[in-house]
Amino acid sequence: MSSVAPQDEFAIRLHGVTKVYEGGTRALGPLDLDIRKGEFVSLLGASGCGKSTALRLIAGLAAPSFGSIEVPARASRQSIGFVFQEPTLMPWTTVRENVRLPLKLAHVADAESAPRVADALAQVGLAGFAEAYPRELSGGMQMRVSLARALVTSPDILLLDEPFAALDEITRFKLNNDLLALWRKLGKTIVFVTHSVYEAVYLSQRVVIMTSRPGRVHTERRIDAHEPRDDAFRTSVAYSGHCRDVSQALMQASEAEALA
Ligand code: ADP
Ligand code: MG
Repeated sequence: MSSVAPQDEFAIRLHGVTKVYEGGTRALGPLDLDIRKGEFVSLLGASGCGKSTALRLIAGLAAPSFGSIEVPARASRQSIGFVFQEPTLMPWTTVRENVRLPLKLAHVADAESAPRVADALAQVGLAGFAEAYPRELSGGMQMRVSLARALVTSPDILLLDEPFAALDEITRFKLNNDLLALWRKLGKTIVFVTHSVYEAVYLSQRVVIMTSRPGRVHTERRIDAHEPRDDAFRTSVAYSGHCRDVSQALMQASEAEALA
């Protein structure tokens, strides 16, 4: 296997991307970012630095003010999975119907959508919960439903915006592991937004450290393959070394901004 991906193997390419909101808030940029197909990348930065804005631009949910965004999956009309910080489930209907929603919106027939919904639920460990209602589920399980809903259209790219920030630590660790297992199995490109150094280091092949608003790439760190990423990794000297290093870089990123 070649260690260098060919030029055309990128999944996401941002060049000089700037976002100025109505009212003049310059939320982002200029941001340059290249993400390879199949890569697991975290965007790490302080609250308000433009991480959610960057994800929305990548997803095509908003347009940049300046700069170019290339996402070949979008151009070929493949879906992009998006997981928000809140599970954002419809409370009046079942887990099955919640997960089926994107297929329904895409006018996929029931006969075709049923096995895909079952598949997505099995992938997140919720095979037995199709008939449950969101209120009957714990926060972690609701987030699993949200993840299943993002997976049900078989997207090439999965964008996650601080999905586990509201969960207790044990649940978060479990979902971290399950997300990594899914990534290995399904080979998707994952862009994971977090403000947690520890979570970014645990999950990612590459951590992109952003400056405070307007968010730009301050620096990045490759977290060289420590496999498997498991509890032994979480308590290893290598892990704490990476965390210290990324943490320092994050502090520099906000200091650089304060001086600017
Ligand atoms: P993060 O996700 O890193 O916390 P956001 O992308 O949500 O950051 O926001 C970046 C900045 O842009 C913040 O100052 C926020 O208040 C502002 N912002 C976000 N969305 C909007 C919007 N729709 N209109 C105006 N300002 C916004
Ligand atoms: Mg955000």
